[in-house]
Amino acid sequence: MSNCKFRTGLGFDVHRLVEDRDLWLCGVKLDHTHGLLGHSDADVAIHALCDALLGAAALRDIGYHFPDSDPAYKGADSKILLKEVVRLLSDKGYLIGNVDITICTEAPKINPHITRMQTTLAEIMQVDIDDISIKATTTERLGFTGRREGISAYATALIYRP
Ligand code: MG
Repeated sequence: MSNCKFRTGLGFDVHRLVEDRDLWLCGVKLDHTHGLLGHSDADVAIHALCDALLGAAALRDIGYHFPDSDPAYKGADSKILLKEVVRLLSDKGYLIGNVDITICTEAPKINPHITRMQTTLAEIMQVDIDDISIKATTTERLGFTGRREGISAYATALIYRP
């Protein structure tokens, strides 16, 4: 334990809500009138999570590894990006301790989907469901999330090298 190296990271992301797009959050497709706009599937929660994990390992950010100018990532399933991030960390000898995600949106309701989101992320990240915390909040109708113009997400991650 004394030589075990612990590190934390923080991630944040925003995507715009538009009509005629699917809404993906934490790797789960939700029924909603609007979806998030982006080069990939625009899963804002996974993007924040990837940045938290990369940040903990000082491995730059998601845009550095998966540039939105690269046609390879057009419409990309963000679960694949997360899997790649986990591989980048494991290449540096890091294991994932726990992660904590907060999604800020007025709608749709996130709570009914949290167990499925945890299960989805835990499988990709090869951790226990209890190591994945997903929370949701509104912003009391204030700001761009409050006006339903977009969704933001924050994430923290603890990683360690045994
Ligand atoms: Mg993003």
